Amino acid sequence: MTDRTTRIRASHIIAFDGAQHRHLRDGEIVIRGEDIVYVGRRFEGEVDAEIDASGRVVTPGFINTHAHMAGSPLDRSFVEGGGPPELGYDTLIDYLMPRHALLGPDADAACLEYSFAEVLRSGATTCIEMGGELGNLPELVATYGNRIYYAPLYNSAAWYSPDGRTVAYDWHEQRGLDRLEEIAAEIEAHDGSCAGLLRGLLAPAQADTCTEELLLKTREHAARLGVPITLHVAQAPWEIDNMVERVGTTPVAWLREIGFLDDTVILGHAIFLGGTRWTDRPEDDIGIIAASGASVGHAAWVFGRDGMGLDSFRRYQHAGINMTLGTDTSPQNMIQAMRLAAIYSRAMEGGNPRATSAADVFNAATLGGAAALGRDDLGRIAPGAKADLVIFSGTSFNMTPLRDPIQNIVFSAETEDVETVIINGRTVVEDGLVVGLGDRAEEVGARVQRVAESMWSGMATVDREARTIDDLAPPSFRPWEE
Ligand SMILES: [Zn+2]
Repeated sequence: MTDRTTRIRASHIIAFDGAQHRHLRDGEIVIRGEDIVYVGRRFEGEVDAEIDASGRVVTPGFINTHAHMAGSPLDRSFVEGGGPPELGYDTLIDYLMPRHALLGPDADAACLEYSFAEVLRSGATTCIEMGGELGNLPELVATYGNRIYYAPLYNSAAWYSPDGRTVAYDWHEQRGLDRLEEIAAEIEAHDGSCAGLLRGLLAPAQADTCTEELLLKTREHAARLGVPITLHVAQAPWEIDNMVERVGTTPVAWLREIGFLDDTVILGHAIFLGGTRWTDRPEDDIGIIAASGASVGHAAWVFGRDGMGLDSFRRYQHAGINMTLGTDTSPQNMIQAMRLAAIYSRAMEGGNPRATSAADVFNAATLGGAAALGRDDLGRIAPGAKADLVIFSGTSFNMTPLRDPIQNIVFSAETEDVETVIINGRTVVEDGLVVGLGDRAEEVGARVQRVAESMWSGMATVDREARTIDDLAPPSFRPWEE
């Protein structure tokens, strides 16, 4: 990267003053190479290039702390109607696990490339990708320019349902430990590659599928490598029942007991906590998370579509938990993630529009994500921060009239209002088009369609009861009949 300088003049800049975001009207941002070197009213020095963002809004890029980019596109037209009531409407066991058996490296590659483009369209400049192999991630990062924390999932057990009503565990402890060693070595080799855009993160898949030994070995490796940790926890009612039976308490209380929780850990979901409306457990899980310094990676839509929400975003935030946002499923849209996080919090607080503001969820999508990753150079527009920026239209149908850009973005904007995305000083979305896609947009979409059709037609072969895709996910309307 050169030290070429670019000045962005904008009507609205969400600038960081060292403590919090501020709304700077008619200001300037100057980028040198990968970094922001100036934000303020007027830059007096010389620059090599200019970007005119008059009438527009410039915000920091969003940080998606919970993505499954190699799978999520295939959630569309599939899991939106929810899973079986016997399993708490959860789709993990009867939908996502069997589907996984049908997908190979080609499917992963098709979805990954699609997702690289999809996340950029809503301004997500950083994503934690919880998936499989390193594969072609370095090539995709080089082509599309996303900032990626790759986090291959590993565990000590696989779920299965013997009867469609309960979940059991098929243990493979040694394989999990071996896999952790491989992943740690891979992260050591690749962390910080691609001009620092590709970093590693350790992701023991779920609290209930990991042994204490695997989790504590994960902590040792994370400390040695200086990388954060994420895992799914409290994401299903059956998980709580199984953990109470196995260890005598909730998964969150157990993670504290074994010494796993601290401020390097991001807890994915953390919905079914003791002390909330979703369980009858007496443990104060919200207090435990807050005291530990761990973050919550909240993906509102994946539970929202099942009619559930955090109890509540406001309650977690007010307890002192560092809140972050992710997408988890399809659509991988951080604007929607912010909007739904705010709406569900207001609903869960008994219909209180003051419960969670646009600023609260915007902070979670920027500063919260950065804090969770231990990065004070992300999620903010400030000198010394990485040049990860989003330029929104200020004159579109969704953004007009414009007084408070954050309320407009959180409650009205759509992906088409994202005009430009810059990551590490490089323009990766221009005039609303993903630069890395070039003329391949149709081809990349068609590849995902082919993978999906093959998955849909194969579902009966992997389903416990040989149910077809139409049995599992009934179409909204019956087919036309002549
Ligand atoms: Zn997930």
